[in-house]
Amino acid sequence: MPHHAPLMGTIVAGFVVAFLMGALAHKLRVSPVAGYLLAGVIVGPFTPGFVADIALANELAELGVMLLMFGVGLHFSLRDLLSVKNIAVPGAVIQIAVATALGLGLALYLGWSVAAGLVFGLALSVASTVVLLRALQARNLVETDRGRIAVGWLIVEDLAMILALVLLPAMAGMFEGEPGEGASGSGLLTALALTVLKVGGFLAFMLIVARRVIPAALHWTAHTGSRELFRLAVLSIALGVALGAAYVFDVSFALGAFFAGMILGETQLSRRAAEETLPLRDAFAVLFFVSVGMLFDPSVMVEQPGPVVATVAIIVIGKSLAAYGIVRAFGHDNNIALTVAGSLAQIGEFSFILAGLGMQLGILPPEGRDLILAGAIFSILFNPLIFTLVAGRLGEVKRREEADAREREDARQRERREHVILVGHGRVGRLIAEGAAHRGRALVVIEEQVDFARAAEAAGREVVIGNATNPHVLDEAGIQQASKLIIAIPEGFEGGAIAAHARRLNPGVVIFARAHSDEEVDYLQRLGVDHVIMGEREIARAILGLAATSRPAA
Ligand code: AMP
Repeated sequence: MPHHAPLMGTIVAGFVVAFLMGALAHKLRVSPVAGYLLAGVIVGPFTPGFVADIALANELAELGVMLLMFGVGLHFSLRDLLSVKNIAVPGAVIQIAVATALGLGLALYLGWSVAAGLVFGLALSVASTVVLLRALQARNLVETDRGRIAVGWLIVEDLAMILALVLLPAMAGMFEGEPGEGASGSGLLTALALTVLKVGGFLAFMLIVARRVIPAALHWTAHTGSRELFRLAVLSIALGVALGAAYVFDVSFALGAFFAGMILGETQLSRRAAEETLPLRDAFAVLFFVSVGMLFDPSVMVEQPGPVVATVAIIVIGKSLAAYGIVRAFGHDNNIALTVAGSLAQIGEFSFILAGLGMQLGILPPEGRDLILAGAIFSILFNPLIFTLVAGRLGEVKRREEADAREREDARQRERREHVILVGHGRVGRLIAEGAAHRGRALVVIEEQVDFARAAEAAGREVVIGNATNPHVLDEAGIQQASKLIIAIPEGFEGGAIAAHARRLNPGVVIFARAHSDEEVDYLQRLGVDHVIMGEREIARAILGLAATSRPAA
């Protein structure tokens, strides 16, 4: 065991075991997050065999949290949030109150302090962004009304947690100051005022200085044309602001990164920034889950089975019932209520951050963290199951909806005979769509990026939002009736996967695809793509043509 290289050992073991467990989770059709948590337990100190360095794993995990929050900030759209605020804001607030009360009840029953109970309850009240978005994406629900409500609800929860993270240290000061009941009110006030001042200073700095400097710096970097520099700039902004915020203004990494993301989200370069951080974010998010798993002591399940079951019940049953009741009380139908309840019946990253801070401040007993971890692991594990169960219970409503949907689908299919499916509405796809519109062909666009899909819709096109490598998405676009499939995405090998599914579903369809290398051309041709267009060859051809005909100015 490389004891002399603990950092390397931790990173490598984290990735390798997470990959193996993630692959297993994929096979078993449970959330990969469950696999990563389990990987953490395996490399953790409570199971035999290799033990990774917990302190290092935690530090790496912090990087994951920063990048995750940076991503949340990038995608944070005030408009989306405002469109569902009437249900998301009261819903999230009431649900947080209910879950916190239930957690507090359990904590008091276990003999913990009120402060511990509050931290515990808050940690149980907030759902994981990663788990929720994956659940909605897997079922193509992100862009539906219920999906939007669930996401808006989650954003409100996230904001409430950011507030909680900021206020917790001040509150801890208050609870520390208390010998008996009556806490020193002035102590809390000072701490609170100081926190508000620091956060205010941070916000002012971000909105006045950073909001001008950061986008300008990024623009300048983009214009150097160096992709490497651009990537470095995005990372420096995300991580630099997060760390700087913590050192200078004493606010959490999470809040700093969130604001850095939000400021970049307003700029034109936000999409590229998101793409550049994606691989690193995914990698470190995995290490985040691994490090959480490492802290988990499985013996808690044997020693305290009752509290574990109660914690899981609060998350899975208590929270869902509360969410369901709230959504129904606001006059939404059963279907929406069940989706929202199902998607929020889990806890994740924020709970761990909160638990970690609670422990650091000496508020939360270690059992509290173990219970939260157990609750997270089980609720994440059960989440896909709950979704399926909920979907099965929809009964009458669902059947009626399905009949309606079938009818609509039939009508659409009748309309759509022999249509053209266009995958990707980016630089290439947009031009193709414009050209096809002139010819009066029926066209269905498949685009996975929501903002691009919206642009296509605004241009009057029929759009299916989703990833075309998913056969359901191809189905929704009516692949069986299509005459042509144009795969206008830059990734040749991904295009191959799309072509293979399409060929299986409709052997007669004529397929066009883009490629950028000879390997991709070969691969696509072998898969039976009828026309492979290699971008670089076409560019060269156009340049040769121009060079042959153009004459120097006289
Ligand atoms: P461009 O290279 O600018 O033509 O952009 C390609 C477009 O295709 C982007 O807007 C991507 O979001 C989109 N895209 C890439 N892969 C897929 C996929 N598998 N399914 C649907 N859309 C995709």
